[in-house]
Amino acid sequence: MSPVTSAALRQLPKVSLHDHLDGGLRPQTVIDLCRENGHPLPTKDAEGLQEWIFQQCDAGNLVDYLKPFELTVGAMQTPEQLARVAHEFVLDMALDGVVYAETRWAPELHQQRGLGLSEAVLAVRDGLASGMSEAARLGTPVVARQLLVSMRHREPTVTIAQLTVDHRDDGVAGFDIAGAEEGFPPSRHRESFELLKRNNAHFTIHAGEAFGLPSIWEAVQLCGAERLGHGVRIVEDIDVTGDRPVLGPLAAYVRDRRIALELAPTSNLQTGIAATMAEHPIGLLFDLGFRVTVNCDNRLMSRTTMSDEFAAVAAAFGWGIDDVERCTISAMHSAFWDHQERERIISELVRPAYRLVRDEMGEL
Ligand SMILES: [Zn+2]
Repeated sequence: MSPVTSAALRQLPKVSLHDHLDGGLRPQTVIDLCRENGHPLPTKDAEGLQEWIFQQCDAGNLVDYLKPFELTVGAMQTPEQLARVAHEFVLDMALDGVVYAETRWAPELHQQRGLGLSEAVLAVRDGLASGMSEAARLGTPVVARQLLVSMRHREPTVTIAQLTVDHRDDGVAGFDIAGAEEGFPPSRHRESFELLKRNNAHFTIHAGEAFGLPSIWEAVQLCGAERLGHGVRIVEDIDVTGDRPVLGPLAAYVRDRRIALELAPTSNLQTGIAATMAEHPIGLLFDLGFRVTVNCDNRLMSRTTMSDEFAAVAAAFGWGIDDVERCTISAMHSAFWDHQERERIISELVRPAYRLVRDEMGEL
């Protein structure tokens, strides 16, 4: 089967699990809102700003990659600003053919102008809700939910985990920790994870991106992560020197427990996981049966979309429609959402759309 193109992919339902709200702003929105807040900008032209951010993020390591976030976070400091960014997030997902999306963000970074944590969560809830209404009106419905992030390099506190539990009825699907990974292992935040487990709340953990197997092991075995933010360095527990790949115990555990890997191929290249897409471990991990999901991570920083990500992977590994569908269903199964609703999206939206495209291709 020939690899699928970005244009064809845009028409197909997709599921996005790993997208940072502060990493996906429209360039013009960054300019508008930074101006409002008196936050300095490197350029006042939207195209120039997109290029500047992309170049900053292309440095090959996570720490430099995180720098332009000062700008986007600086643009999201009032309820109206958070709501606008959340609203546009949903519409951009709809334009890209995404039918279910979780967006993550760290409320604690949005208090520069005195916003309360709950107030910030409610602003994002309202922005997502108005975005969903507009997307539905346009005939491209999306379900969008938020994940709350605690910054891993800060002094650990259970505040954001508690906020996640308190706002579970406000479209808050779960929790995550993000930021510099090396030197800040997941176990520092164990109290948060314990609190979430006691309250039957969901969480994923950024692990195995900028640091290797010990980080993944802690996330899964000490903390109880249901999914791994990236987790791409699980490949370090796979021996590929012989006739066939041999999984170490941690890699086998992650695969066999069906722990989703929230891979973000372009972002992973930008932070130095591999030099080219052809060398990205996603092809191997997919072939070995890991629960691979494809994500953007930060659409603005990586100048990408879900369709572009799938197209890049399809071109590098020869993926066809069936492979994209498998990733989409995997992502839907791994969403922090109601089981019956997930099954409904798979059976009513995902499978029929892919079947239709396959049938059309068969007729050519
Ligand atoms: Zn991320």
